[in-house]
Amino acid sequence: MSRREFTKKTMREALSRSGYKCEAVGAMYGLEPGRRCNSDLAYGVEFDHIVLDANSKDNSLENCASVCIKCHRWKTANHDIPMAARTVRMQDKARGVKKKSQPIPANSTLRTREPRDPNKGLPPLPNRSLYEAKP
Ligand SMILES: [Zn+2]
Repeated sequence: MSRREFTKKTMREALSRSGYKCEAVGAMYGLEPGRRCNSDLAYGVEFDHIVLDANSKDNSLENCASVCIKCHRWKTANHDIPMAARTVRMQDKARGVKKKSQPIPANSTLRTREPRDPNKGLPPLPNRSLYEAKP
């Protein structure tokens, strides 16, 4: 199992701690800073990793929030996914994976390819003399 999740015990404890009201707090969940959602979890509960670390997932009760579906969706789309993308970009950078400025290998066909004709596909320009003939 590559992706560890909360145990049932942790989820039970988180739900009991929540008082069956959504525990999402603050901007991370699309709420005002410091404000708790408090939606009734009877309509559906999901368990969110408050701090999402793709490499070492913290499945402790402290990192487990009982949240409503709306809050969970908001955080996944607006916080967790952009954060994961940023983590991947930073890992790429640390490992020297770059998009630009890759040297072209000596035996590459790119080096011997004919230069592209910028006028390709366009009608030819009419002939014109450089100097107007004087009458
Ligand atoms: Zn909520």
